[in-house]
Amino acid sequence: MANAANTGTQNPAMPHAGASASQGGASMLLRVVTPSRQLLSEPVEELQVPGKAGYLGILPGHAPMLSELRVGELTYRQGRNLHRLLITGGFLEVLPEQVTILAEAAERPEEIDLARAQTARDRAEKRLRSADPEVDLNRATVALERALIRIQLAGKS
Ligand code: ATP
Repeated sequence: MANAANTGTQNPAMPHAGASASQGGASMLLRVVTPSRQLLSEPVEELQVPGKAGYLGILPGHAPMLSELRVGELTYRQGRNLHRLLITGGFLEVLPEQVTILAEAAERPEEIDLARAQTARDRAEKRLRSADPEVDLNRATVALERALIRIQLAGKS
């Protein structure tokens, strides 16, 4: 996926990414909402989300479903353009014409504060290395994962 950003070229994660906007493919409304804001409410033709058990690809007309989400990259396609968002877990509701993502946090790549994410990564790594029995290793692991994905996505903005 890394090389296909905004090119509309072949992308294994987005098998229809070569389609042109003028072909007027079917679309669905994608809404991304966090506790503090609605980040997105736009028609998209395809999306891929980090489900708890792995990435899920969704096209318009998908059967209704609910899923828990994990930290990762949400990718969606509008015409030939691929867009990315970071989401840090939450829930997904799929209806044939609408997908709603309730995310704990979500950011566009250009909104990510790289220095903050690097500080969060260093803090989490230090906690994971420490022998302190007070350290919550699960929490530090998830914080590290969030920070690493933010760093990765900030590099793609
Ligand atoms: P930190 O330790 O730096 O707060 P965190 O991973 O604990 O990082 P979250 O709990 O995921 O932070 O997010 C809290 C809020 O801060 C959310 O609104 C999120 O969008 C925002 N946020 C966190 N880190 C960044 C970042 N590096 N750049 C931009 N926004 C961020």
